[in-house]
Amino acid sequence: MNKNSPIRTCVSCKSKMPQIILKRYRVISGVIQTGKGDGRSFYLCDKCLQKDEKILKKILDRYIKSVIGLEASNLKEKLLNEQC
Ligand SMILES: [Zn+2]
Repeated sequence: MNKNSPIRTCVSCKSKMPQIILKRYRVISGVIQTGKGDGRSFYLCDKCLQKDEKILKKILDRYIKSVIGLEASNLKEKLLNEQC
């Protein structure tokens, strides 16, 4: 494991893990996006990405206030398909 990788916390399970194994997302103008850039970013681990969409939505609703277009019906698809 890369010792130089910064440690980040999964917003769902609160596990601390190297950044390289977490999926990074960011919120710009209330919409979840992927990749690097401005905006508030958060991390999810692979295990949490397998959770039910409704659970994921609840977690993100709590973490990110006023997210626009966060629909449980396509949330998981969005999180899984839009990789960095
Ligand atoms: Zn997690």
